[in-house]
Amino acid sequence: MANASATAITQRLIQFNTINPPGDEQDCTRHLGAMLESAGFEINYFEYDERRTSLIARLAGRGTKPPFCFGGHVDVVPLGLAPWSVEPFAAKVEDGKLFGRGSSDMKSGVAAFVHAGLRLAQTEERAADVVLLIVAGEETGCDGSKHVAELGVLPECGAVVIAEPTSNYPYLGHRGALWLEGTVTGRTAHGSMPELGENAVYKAARAVTKLEDFGFNERPDPLLGSTTLNVGTFEGGININSVPDRAKFTIDIRTIPGRDHAATVMELGQYLGPEVELTTKVDVVPVLTDAEDPWVQETFTLLEPVLGEQPEPRGAPYFTDASALTPACGNPPTLIMGPGEMAQAHQSDEFCVVDRIEEAAELYHAMARRWCGLL
Ligand SMILES: [Zn+2]
Repeated sequence: MANASATAITQRLIQFNTINPPGDEQDCTRHLGAMLESAGFEINYFEYDERRTSLIARLAGRGTKPPFCFGGHVDVVPLGLAPWSVEPFAAKVEDGKLFGRGSSDMKSGVAAFVHAGLRLAQTEERAADVVLLIVAGEETGCDGSKHVAELGVLPECGAVVIAEPTSNYPYLGHRGALWLEGTVTGRTAHGSMPELGENAVYKAARAVTKLEDFGFNERPDPLLGSTTLNVGTFEGGININSVPDRAKFTIDIRTIPGRDHAATVMELGQYLGPEVELTTKVDVVPVLTDAEDPWVQETFTLLEPVLGEQPEPRGAPYFTDASALTPACGNPPTLIMGPGEMAQAHQSDEFCVVDRIEEAAELYHAMARRWCGLL
Protein backbone atom coordinates (compact mmCIF):
# COMPACT_ATOMS: atom_id res chain seq x y z
CA MET A 1 0.00 0.00 0.00
CA ALA A 2 2.99 2.32 0.57
CA ASN A 3 3.31 2.72 -3.20
CA ALA A 4 -0.37 3.37 -3.87
CA SER A 5 -1.09 6.76 -5.44
CA ALA A 6 -2.86 9.44 -3.43
CA THR A 7 -5.85 8.91 -5.71
CA ALA A 8 -5.91 5.18 -4.96
CA ILE A 9 -5.78 5.93 -1.22
CA THR A 10 -8.70 8.37 -1.68
CA GLN A 11 -10.69 5.72 -3.53
CA ARG A 12 -10.25 3.26 -0.68
CA LEU A 13 -11.33 5.91 1.87
CA ILE A 14 -14.48 6.75 -0.09
CA GLN A 15 -15.47 3.07 0.06
CA PHE A 16 -15.85 3.32 3.83
CA ASN A 17 -19.34 4.70 4.50
CA THR A 18 -18.68 7.38 7.12
CA ILE A 19 -21.87 9.42 6.68
CA ASN A 20 -22.35 11.57 9.75
CA PRO A 21 -24.73 11.02 11.46
CA PRO A 22 -24.01 8.38 12.62
CA GLY A 23 -20.33 8.74 11.54
CA ASP A 24 -18.93 5.30 12.21
CA GLU A 25 -15.38 6.38 11.28
CA GLN A 26 -13.61 3.56 13.13
CA ASP A 27 -12.83 1.24 10.18
CA CYS A 28 -11.71 4.12 7.98
CA THR A 29 -9.47 5.59 10.66
CA ARG A 30 -7.98 2.21 11.57
CA HIS A 31 -7.28 1.48 7.91
CA LEU A 32 -5.20 4.67 7.74
CA GLY A 33 -3.60 3.95 11.11
CA ALA A 34 -2.45 0.51 9.93
CA MET A 35 -0.89 2.00 6.77
CA LEU A 36 0.93 4.67 8.72
CA GLU A 37 2.05 2.32 11.47
CA SER A 38 3.69 -0.07 9.03
CA ALA A 39 5.58 2.91 7.56
CA GLY A 40 7.03 3.83 10.95
CA PHE A 41 4.49 6.28 12.42
CA GLU A 42 3.58 6.05 16.09
CA ILE A 43 -0.21 5.71 16.26
CA ASN A 44 -2.69 6.69 18.97
CA TYR A 45 -6.45 6.26 18.63
CA PHE A 46 -9.05 8.31 20.51
CA GLU A 47 -12.79 7.63 20.63
CA TYR A 48 -15.29 10.21 21.86
CA ASP A 49 -18.11 7.73 21.34
CA GLU A 50 -18.49 4.15 20.16
CA ARG A 51 -16.77 3.77 16.75
CA ARG A 52 -16.16 7.54 16.54
CA THR A 53 -12.43 7.13 16.13
CA SER A 54 -9.83 9.86 15.67
CA LEU A 55 -6.14 9.25 15.17
CA ILE A 56 -2.87 11.00 15.92
CA ALA A 57 0.06 9.67 13.87
CA ARG A 58 3.57 10.89 14.63
CA LEU A 59 6.67 10.39 12.56
CA ALA A 60 9.68 11.12 14.74
CA GLY A 61 12.44 13.43 13.52
CA ARG A 62 15.82 14.18 15.08
CA GLY A 63 15.94 17.91 15.70
CA THR A 64 14.40 20.29 18.20
CA LYS A 65 12.22 22.12 15.70
CA PRO A 66 8.50 21.82 16.57
CA PRO A 67 6.47 19.34 14.48
CA PHE A 68 4.83 20.06 11.15
CA CYS A 69 1.17 19.11 11.28
CA PHE A 70 -1.52 18.08 8.81
CA GLY A 71 -5.16 17.80 9.85
CA GLY A 72 -8.38 16.52 8.34
CA HIS A 73 -11.62 14.70 8.98
CA VAL A 74 -12.89 11.39 7.59
CA ASP A 75 -16.63 11.78 8.23
CA VAL A 76 -18.83 12.90 5.33
CA VAL A 77 -22.27 14.53 5.08
CA PRO A 78 -25.44 12.59 4.16
CA LEU A 79 -26.19 12.03 0.47
CA GLY A 80 -28.90 14.71 0.36
CA LEU A 81 -32.31 14.69 -1.27
CA ALA A 82 -31.21 15.18 -4.88
CA PRO A 83 -30.58 11.82 -6.57
CA TRP A 84 -27.03 10.76 -7.53
CA SER A 85 -26.23 9.62 -11.06
CA VAL A 86 -23.14 7.73 -9.79
CA GLU A 87 -22.79 5.25 -6.94
CA PRO A 88 -21.60 7.44 -4.00
CA PHE A 89 -19.24 4.84 -2.51
CA ALA A 90 -17.90 3.18 -5.67
CA ALA A 91 -15.13 5.79 -6.08
CA LYS A 92 -15.14 5.60 -9.88
CA VAL A 93 -12.80 7.74 -11.96
CA GLU A 94 -14.22 9.21 -15.16
CA ASP A 95 -12.81 11.99 -17.36
CA GLY A 96 -10.11 12.77 -14.81
CA LYS A 97 -12.60 13.15 -11.98
CA LEU A 98 -12.96 10.90 -8.96
CA PHE A 99 -16.62 10.65 -7.95
CA GLY A 100 -17.99 9.82 -4.52
CA ARG A 101 -19.25 11.20 -1.22
CA GLY A 102 -16.24 12.74 0.50
CA SER A 103 -14.10 12.91 -2.65
CA SER A 104 -13.73 16.68 -2.29
CA ASP A 105 -14.77 17.10 1.37
CA MET A 106 -12.30 15.76 2.31
CA LYS A 107 -11.03 12.24 1.90
CA SER A 108 -8.80 13.39 -0.99
CA GLY A 109 -7.12 15.86 1.35
CA VAL A 110 -6.53 13.24 4.03
CA ALA A 111 -5.26 10.75 1.42
CA ALA A 112 -2.88 13.37 -0.03
CA PHE A 113 -1.23 14.15 3.30
CA VAL A 114 -1.11 10.47 4.25
CA HIS A 115 0.63 9.83 0.92
CA ALA A 116 3.11 12.64 1.65
CA GLY A 117 3.70 11.19 5.14
CA LEU A 118 4.37 7.71 3.78
CA ARG A 119 6.95 9.11 1.35
CA LEU A 120 8.56 11.18 4.06
CA ALA A 121 8.88 8.11 6.27
CA GLN A 122 11.29 6.68 3.69
CA THR A 123 13.78 9.53 4.34
CA GLU A 124 16.15 9.21 7.26
CA GLU A 125 17.40 12.67 8.19
CA ARG A 126 14.27 14.58 9.20
CA ALA A 127 14.95 17.60 11.42
CA ALA A 128 11.42 17.69 12.89
CA ASP A 129 8.48 15.43 13.66
CA VAL A 130 5.55 15.21 11.29
CA VAL A 131 2.15 14.83 12.92
CA LEU A 132 -1.06 13.77 11.16
CA LEU A 133 -4.34 14.51 12.92
CA ILE A 134 -7.18 12.51 11.41
CA VAL A 135 -10.45 13.15 13.17
CA ALA A 136 -14.03 11.93 13.30
CA GLY A 137 -17.17 14.02 13.54
CA GLU A 138 -16.21 17.33 11.90
CA GLU A 139 -19.42 17.85 9.97
CA THR A 140 -21.61 18.12 13.06
CA GLY A 141 -19.42 20.77 14.71
CA CYS A 142 -15.80 19.58 15.10
CA ASP A 143 -16.69 16.95 17.73
CA GLY A 144 -13.66 14.73 17.07
CA SER A 145 -11.11 17.55 17.00
CA LYS A 146 -12.64 19.13 20.12
CA HIS A 147 -12.32 15.79 21.86
CA VAL A 148 -8.60 15.37 21.14
CA ALA A 149 -8.04 19.04 21.95
CA GLU A 150 -9.75 18.67 25.33
CA LEU A 151 -7.77 15.51 26.14
CA GLY A 152 -4.61 17.61 25.96
CA VAL A 153 -2.85 15.05 23.76
CA LEU A 154 -1.94 17.39 20.91
CA PRO A 155 1.69 18.47 20.60
CA GLU A 156 2.84 22.08 20.30
CA CYS A 157 3.25 22.41 16.53
CA GLY A 158 5.24 24.79 14.34
CA ALA A 159 2.75 24.95 11.47
CA VAL A 160 -0.61 23.39 10.59
CA VAL A 161 -2.22 22.59 7.24
CA ILE A 162 -5.92 21.70 7.24
CA ALA A 163 -6.64 19.82 4.01
CA GLU A 164 -10.23 21.01 3.44
CA PRO A 165 -11.28 21.67 -0.19
CA THR A 166 -9.68 24.79 -1.70
CA SER A 167 -8.42 23.53 -5.10
CA ASN A 168 -4.97 23.72 -3.48
CA TYR A 169 -5.23 27.48 -2.91
CA PRO A 170 -3.93 28.52 0.54
CA TYR A 171 -6.50 30.22 2.81
CA LEU A 172 -5.38 32.07 5.93
CA GLY A 173 -8.39 31.30 8.09
CA HIS A 174 -12.12 31.49 8.47
CA ARG A 175 -14.88 32.86 10.65
CA GLY A 176 -16.10 31.01 13.71
CA ALA A 177 -19.58 29.56 14.15
CA LEU A 178 -21.96 29.96 17.04
CA TRP A 179 -25.15 27.95 16.56
CA LEU A 180 -27.92 28.61 19.03
CA GLU A 181 -31.35 27.20 19.64
CA GLY A 182 -34.07 29.44 21.01
CA THR A 183 -36.91 27.82 22.92
CA VAL A 184 -40.12 29.59 23.90
CA THR A 185 -42.81 28.05 26.08
CA GLY A 186 -46.49 28.96 26.48
CA ARG A 187 -49.62 27.25 27.74
CA THR A 188 -51.79 24.98 25.62
CA ALA A 189 -55.57 25.23 25.24
CA HIS A 190 -58.20 24.15 22.74
CA GLY A 191 -57.89 26.05 19.47
CA SER A 192 -61.47 27.24 19.79
CA MET A 193 -60.66 28.98 23.09
CA PRO A 194 -57.27 30.64 22.52
CA GLU A 195 -57.90 33.14 25.33
CA LEU A 196 -57.34 30.27 27.79
CA GLY A 197 -53.84 29.57 26.51
CA GLU A 198 -50.58 31.36 25.88
CA ASN A 199 -49.37 31.01 22.30
CA ALA A 200 -45.66 30.10 22.10
CA VAL A 201 -45.55 30.59 18.32
CA TYR A 202 -46.58 34.26 18.63
CA LYS A 203 -43.85 34.83 21.19
CA ALA A 204 -41.22 33.03 19.11
CA ALA A 205 -42.30 34.89 15.96
CA ARG A 206 -41.83 38.21 17.77
CA ALA A 207 -38.35 37.12 18.86
CA VAL A 208 -37.34 36.01 15.36
CA THR A 209 -38.60 39.25 13.81
CA LYS A 210 -36.58 41.16 16.36
CA LEU A 211 -33.47 39.19 15.38
CA GLU A 212 -33.69 40.51 11.84
CA ASP A 213 -32.84 43.95 13.23
CA PHE A 214 -30.05 42.81 15.53
CA GLY A 215 -26.77 44.56 14.84
CA PHE A 216 -23.29 43.48 15.86
CA ASN A 217 -21.44 46.49 17.08
CA GLU A 218 -17.98 45.88 15.64
CA ARG A 219 -15.43 46.85 13.05
CA PRO A 220 -15.30 44.37 10.11
CA ASP A 221 -12.19 42.23 9.70
CA PRO A 222 -10.29 43.24 6.53
CA LEU A 223 -10.06 39.61 5.39
CA LEU A 224 -13.02 37.81 6.96
CA GLY A 225 -15.67 40.53 6.77
CA SER A 226 -18.34 40.92 9.42
CA THR A 227 -20.18 38.79 11.94
CA THR A 228 -23.48 37.63 10.43
CA LEU A 229 -26.67 36.14 11.82
CA ASN A 230 -29.26 33.92 10.16
CA VAL A 231 -32.36 32.20 11.54
CA GLY A 232 -32.24 28.78 9.88
CA THR A 233 -35.26 26.90 11.22
CA PHE A 234 -38.51 27.62 12.99
CA GLU A 235 -40.97 25.12 14.40
CA GLY A 236 -43.88 25.23 16.78
CA GLY A 237 -47.20 23.59 17.53
CA ILE A 238 -48.37 20.04 17.01
CA ASN A 239 -51.84 20.41 15.45
CA ILE A 240 -54.06 23.05 13.94
CA ASN A 241 -56.68 23.11 16.67
CA SER A 242 -54.47 23.60 19.73
CA VAL A 243 -52.72 26.64 21.17
CA PRO A 244 -49.00 25.76 20.85
CA ASP A 245 -47.17 25.65 24.17
CA ARG A 246 -43.73 25.32 22.63
CA ALA A 247 -41.80 26.85 19.72
CA LYS A 248 -38.18 26.59 18.69
CA PHE A 249 -35.88 28.30 16.25
CA THR A 250 -32.20 28.04 15.41
CA ILE A 251 -29.70 30.84 14.86
CA ASP A 252 -26.48 30.52 12.85
CA ILE A 253 -23.97 33.21 13.79
CA ARG A 254 -20.62 33.45 11.97
CA THR A 255 -18.08 35.38 13.97
CA ILE A 256 -14.87 37.28 13.25
CA PRO A 257 -11.72 37.39 15.42
CA GLY A 258 -12.14 39.49 18.54
CA ARG A 259 -15.76 38.50 19.14
CA ASP A 260 -16.29 36.61 22.39
CA HIS A 261 -18.86 33.84 21.94
CA ALA A 262 -20.04 33.65 25.55
CA ALA A 263 -20.53 37.42 25.64
CA THR A 264 -22.48 37.24 22.36
CA VAL A 265 -24.88 34.66 23.83
CA MET A 266 -25.38 36.92 26.86
CA GLU A 267 -25.98 39.96 24.67
CA LEU A 268 -28.54 38.12 22.51
CA GLY A 269 -30.24 36.72 25.59
CA GLN A 270 -30.70 40.25 26.93
CA TYR A 271 -31.87 41.51 23.55
CA LEU A 272 -34.54 38.78 23.25
CA GLY A 273 -35.64 38.96 26.85
CA PRO A 274 -36.53 36.28 29.41
CA GLU A 275 -39.21 34.62 27.23
CA VAL A 276 -36.53 33.03 25.06
CA GLU A 277 -34.21 30.38 26.42
CA LEU A 278 -31.00 30.14 24.37
CA THR A 279 -28.86 27.00 24.25
CA THR A 280 -25.56 26.66 22.39
CA LYS A 281 -25.44 23.83 19.83
CA VAL A 282 -22.12 24.49 18.11
CA ASP A 283 -19.33 26.76 19.27
CA VAL A 284 -16.20 26.97 17.11
CA VAL A 285 -13.90 29.97 17.19
CA PRO A 286 -12.55 31.94 14.21
CA VAL A 287 -9.03 31.24 12.98
CA LEU A 288 -6.74 33.70 11.21
CA THR A 289 -3.04 33.57 10.42
CA ASP A 290 -0.95 36.65 9.62
CA ALA A 291 -0.13 36.75 5.91
CA GLU A 292 3.31 38.12 6.83
CA ASP A 293 4.22 35.02 8.83
CA PRO A 294 7.55 33.71 7.41
CA TRP A 295 6.26 30.15 6.89
CA VAL A 296 3.16 31.49 5.12
CA GLN A 297 5.32 33.63 2.85
CA GLU A 298 7.61 30.66 2.13
CA THR A 299 4.58 28.51 1.30
CA PHE A 300 3.09 31.20 -0.95
CA THR A 301 6.39 31.26 -2.86
CA LEU A 302 6.37 27.48 -3.15
CA LEU A 303 2.81 27.56 -4.50
CA GLU A 304 3.34 30.38 -6.99
CA PRO A 305 4.51 28.23 -9.94
CA VAL A 306 1.69 25.73 -9.32
CA LEU A 307 -1.07 28.34 -9.08
CA GLY A 308 0.41 30.52 -11.82
CA GLU A 309 0.33 33.55 -9.52
CA GLN A 310 1.49 34.69 -6.11
CA PRO A 311 -1.37 33.74 -3.72
CA GLU A 312 -3.23 36.68 -2.22
CA PRO A 313 -4.49 36.62 1.38
CA ARG A 314 -7.94 35.03 1.50
CA GLY A 315 -10.36 33.67 4.08
CA ALA A 316 -12.38 30.48 3.55
CA PRO A 317 -16.21 30.67 3.71
CA TYR A 318 -16.69 27.60 5.92
CA PHE A 319 -15.29 26.65 9.32
CA THR A 320 -12.83 23.81 9.84
CA ASP A 321 -11.20 21.66 12.51
CA ALA A 322 -8.57 24.40 12.82
CA SER A 323 -10.96 26.08 15.28
CA ALA A 324 -10.24 23.31 17.78
CA LEU A 325 -6.85 22.01 16.62
CA THR A 326 -4.88 25.23 16.11
CA PRO A 327 -5.41 26.61 19.65
CA ALA A 328 -4.69 23.15 21.10
CA CYS A 329 -1.43 22.96 19.10
CA GLY A 330 -0.21 26.26 20.60
CA ASN A 331 -1.69 28.60 17.94
CA PRO A 332 0.89 28.02 15.20
CA PRO A 333 0.41 29.59 11.73
CA THR A 334 -2.32 27.62 9.96
CA LEU A 335 -3.31 27.29 6.32
CA ILE A 336 -6.48 25.77 4.93
CA MET A 337 -5.43 24.08 1.71
CA GLY A 338 -6.61 20.90 0.05
CA PRO A 339 -7.25 19.28 -3.33
CA GLY A 340 -11.07 19.18 -3.16
CA GLU A 341 -13.28 21.65 -4.99
CA MET A 342 -15.02 24.02 -2.60
CA ALA A 343 -18.18 24.07 -4.72
CA GLN A 344 -18.35 20.25 -4.66
CA ALA A 345 -18.57 19.97 -0.88
CA HIS A 346 -21.90 18.47 0.25
CA GLN A 347 -23.17 18.19 -3.40
CA SER A 348 -24.83 15.28 -5.21
CA ASP A 349 -22.37 13.61 -7.63
CA GLU A 350 -19.50 15.09 -5.60
CA PHE A 351 -16.16 14.77 -7.34
CA CYS A 352 -12.51 15.73 -7.00
CA VAL A 353 -10.14 16.36 -9.91
CA VAL A 354 -7.58 13.54 -9.96
CA ASP A 355 -4.68 15.81 -10.98
CA ARG A 356 -5.40 18.04 -8.00
CA ILE A 357 -5.12 15.09 -5.60
CA GLU A 358 -1.70 14.14 -6.95
CA GLU A 359 -0.69 17.83 -6.98
CA ALA A 360 -1.69 18.18 -3.31
CA ALA A 361 0.33 15.09 -2.38
CA GLU A 362 3.38 16.63 -4.11
CA LEU A 363 2.86 20.02 -2.47
CA TYR A 364 2.36 18.54 1.01
CA HIS A 365 5.49 16.45 0.55
CA ALA A 366 7.47 19.53 -0.50
CA MET A 367 6.09 21.60 2.41
CA ALA A 368 6.93 18.94 4.97
CA ARG A 369 10.37 18.27 3.45
CA ARG A 370 11.17 21.96 3.62
CA TRP A 371 10.09 22.11 7.26
CA CYS A 372 12.16 19.04 8.04
CA GLY A 373 15.28 20.58 6.46
CA LEU A 374 15.31 18.29 3.43
CA LEU A 375 15.03 20.93 0.70
ZN1 LIG B 1 -14.87 19.16 5.46
